[in-house]
Amino acid sequence: MGRVHTKPELILRGLALTMAGSSPTAEAVAVSGGRIAAVGSWDEIRTLRGRRTEILDVGRRTILPGFQDAHVHPPQGGLERMRCDLNDLPTREAYLEAIRAYVAAHPAERWVLGGGWAMERFPGGTADRALLDAAVPDRPAFLVNRDGHGAWVNSRALEAAGIDGRTADPPDGRIERDAGGEPAGMLHEGAMALVERLLPPVGPDEWRRAILLAQEYLHGLGITAWQDAWVLPQTLAAYAALAERGELTARVVAALWWDRGRGEEQVADLLELRASASVGRLRAPTVKVMQDGIVENFTAGMIDPYLDGHGSRGDGRGLSFVEAASLSPYVTRLDREGFQVHVHAIGDRAVREALDAFEAAAGANGPSPNRHHIAHLQVVHPNDVPRFAALGVAANLQAYWACLDDQMRDLNVPFLGPERVAHQYPFAGLARSGARLAMGSDWSVTTAEPLRQIQVALTRVPFEHPDREPFVPDQRLDLPTALGAFTMGSAWVNHLDAETGSIEPGKLADLVVLDRDLTAVAPESIGEAQVALTIVQGEVVHRAPSLSSW
Ligand SMILES: [Zn+2]
Repeated sequence: MGRVHTKPELILRGLALTMAGSSPTAEAVAVSGGRIAAVGSWDEIRTLRGRRTEILDVGRRTILPGFQDAHVHPPQGGLERMRCDLNDLPTREAYLEAIRAYVAAHPAERWVLGGGWAMERFPGGTADRALLDAAVPDRPAFLVNRDGHGAWVNSRALEAAGIDGRTADPPDGRIERDAGGEPAGMLHEGAMALVERLLPPVGPDEWRRAILLAQEYLHGLGITAWQDAWVLPQTLAAYAALAERGELTARVVAALWWDRGRGEEQVADLLELRASASVGRLRAPTVKVMQDGIVENFTAGMIDPYLDGHGSRGDGRGLSFVEAASLSPYVTRLDREGFQVHVHAIGDRAVREALDAFEAAAGANGPSPNRHHIAHLQVVHPNDVPRFAALGVAANLQAYWACLDDQMRDLNVPFLGPERVAHQYPFAGLARSGARLAMGSDWSVTTAEPLRQIQVALTRVPFEHPDREPFVPDQRLDLPTALGAFTMGSAWVNHLDAETGSIEPGKLADLVVLDRDLTAVAPESIGEAQVALTIVQGEVVHRAPSLSSW
């Protein structure tokens, strides 16, 4: 219990899981001037009450530090919700229905834009243009899939971009082709840029609206801080404008995009962007390097070749978007400039290349205070698991993917083979080796709901298919570890752990109240818990209607 100089404006009574090692649970939290004034038993905290103190007794419901999403794409997620939104639709027919409805409602839009569709809804993961032509015959359509690594396009879009059977694949992408060699209607990775460069730019006002829409949604899920894993100058400007006006209520760490088409000369631009973004709750201390693609389209960088789907060895090893020989000097330079480096790595070779680069940076610059981290970590070679702790590199986990969902079953397992299948998402191995764990959703790729992700981390069973067998079950996490990753772990990655991430006297009052006692819920139903109240720095940013009836 800490000392209090002024009477608290709020006392929360409930079951507080503090994420503070010294006292993991408490009965009450006092908030004063936006900070946590005291934490302790009800008998201790009730004595602090003043005449104007609001007492909120939530019974045996859980109070947590605000969740921090360590890898998320709010501007793009918000924008998707403003456009033709295919997220969470159950079938291909539902996609086409939504597209037709959108087209009818937006007759004046020159392009049909949007996305959120899942590869698993199409045979072989490939969306085809004939379907889209039927729904959008009169104008180009460009619909990004939910993981952002491919786009579904119609014939009008292919024509506009001049893509036909004779167009060569770009070096960092692939044009999906039909049996006759004609474009099939899906563009992978860098091939998306052939169409993207024709799209009307998103205006500053549109970006700001998208961020505010996303912020409201994420606060509703108990998220009080995040790391935006893909920030471009235009989205950074939108964040900064909102931060200046005090409309950015979340704490935001912006990861500036490393342009893989350029080299070290871009560091000067990154330094300038970093300096421009230190306003209100916004910081940009991070650079995001996309090192490989994804397994589903064979662009994840693998040590050994992919299988051909019938158990035989193929010859593709995927891509390294940044050549391994260049990655180390780039990371060393960024580290020396005080940047945190956030690497996207899915395949075991990409993970190894990232670790090698961090090792090289430490060799050149000494131990880093910059808190580097690697996100996704789908296939990790066992030899590389202990290197995270040894190098002080955080493991940024997207737990929702660590299960046998349709995408894993149909588009990963047959092409990895049993040995590498078992090397996927080694969460418990990383935890046991002493690695620091952070968690993030990668929304709008998949759900932003922290409790659903935590459920999968605990069960390794798909949230949407509770009947499936657990996936590599010895890599399950326990509840304290998973909650710790989504609060303190992500706060560490966000350089916010001194002020947030746990419920301790003196820290900022970023708090969440759930609608139930999380410790009394079975792991397989944790994802059903709802957020009733979200508080940032003592101010309510989300309040569920149910709260008033408790
Ligand atoms: Zn991402």
